[in-house]
Amino acid sequence: MNHASREQPLPLVGLTRDRLPAAMADADIPERQRRMRASQLWRWIYNRGAVSFAAMTDIGKELRTRFAEIYTLDRPEVVTEQISADGTRKWLLRLAADERGQRHEIETVYIPEEDRGTLCISSQVGCTLTCSFCHTGTQKLVRNLDAGEIVGQVLVARDRLGEWPGQPGKNAAPDQRAITNVVLMGMGEPLYNFDAVRDAIAIIADGDGLAISKRRITLSTSGVVPEIVRAGDEIGAMLAISLHATTDAVRDRLVPLNRKYPIEALLSACRAYPGLSNARRITFEYVMLKGVNDGLEDAKRLVKLLKGIPAKVNLIPFNPWPGSAYECSDGETIERFAAVLNRAGYASPVRTPRGRDILAACGQLKSASERLRARERQALAAVE
Ligand code: SAH
Ligand code: SF4
Repeated sequence: MNHASREQPLPLVGLTRDRLPAAMADADIPERQRRMRASQLWRWIYNRGAVSFAAMTDIGKELRTRFAEIYTLDRPEVVTEQISADGTRKWLLRLAADERGQRHEIETVYIPEEDRGTLCISSQVGCTLTCSFCHTGTQKLVRNLDAGEIVGQVLVARDRLGEWPGQPGKNAAPDQRAITNVVLMGMGEPLYNFDAVRDAIAIIADGDGLAISKRRITLSTSGVVPEIVRAGDEIGAMLAISLHATTDAVRDRLVPLNRKYPIEALLSACRAYPGLSNARRITFEYVMLKGVNDGLEDAKRLVKLLKGIPAKVNLIPFNPWPGSAYECSDGETIERFAAVLNRAGYASPVRTPRGRDILAACGQLKSASERLRARERQALAAVE
């Protein structure tokens, strides 16, 4: 396509490395130069964090101007930034308008810890699944993010954390970076947006760019069985499974997708996940819900279920949200549960809730515009 025929600028963020050279045709770059130009752009975007073509000093001025007419480097717009008492940050991001002209919002969370910094990113606006303990699951609005919108969250976080090379005091070695790990545990079910998630992860992991290795990227799924094996072959990130129950009766209630893909099918897919070893284990997430799934018999059943899978268990204290129907198990119950797993040889850290004061903890994400609408609805109902 010639650039003269393009009305909207083409977003470059989100084009995979092998697709970027072809996109150079839009700027009338001769074929033999496309790879070279694509590599230059790639480094500017993902290594230096360039937000404009004007900054790209090793590209001629005329070409920079042409690029700026045809392409865009836009990232999602930061609407709000909240910082928790514990240092967790949550950003509400507004996306570019979709084909219907709607500008949706998503949330991204940064969790600093002593030995790492984890960025929790979203893969969809809302979620089509309706897990009964999850706030995102109550959000009506749903659409898939494209690869650029997924990668854009990492770019924005790096902007806000000031960690592009060349920024004062930065340019640190990979293990000293602000963002060392990425988890797809924000809004949405990543395996229902397979292609965009696959492309985004390939971009985030690319060694010439953001360079967060696939061993430090974790994809969390509620259990979309047919896509799990494919994810192993085509994505190759670390896998986390939102198990949350040890019987189908209970899991059917908590994670309705279980009615389609019950526990045994889910665990078979896990066993078949390529590349598993003691150094590369699957994480099983287990939200602790008082009186629902937290008994000792559950812990024992869990040990049996996981047999033969290189696994660790992440016990997540339930994070309440306005209107949620569950309570978190008490500390002692969680400890007893963890002890059974530990005795069976499974590492089972209890995840410390982070950023609860800004509703940034697991399962609390839901875009502000949705909350506002809900509040508006309530206000209206009160008037009627
Ligand atoms: N949709 C994917 C990824 C996003 S949810 C999935 O379900 O795996 C990330 C994790 O937070 C999941 O394990 C999810 O079950 C858990 N979670 C959801 N709501 C929660 C809540 N209120 N308290 C604690 N964990 C919750
Ligand atoms: Fe969706 Fe995950 Fe929430 Fe379930 S827990 S509703 S799959 S975001």
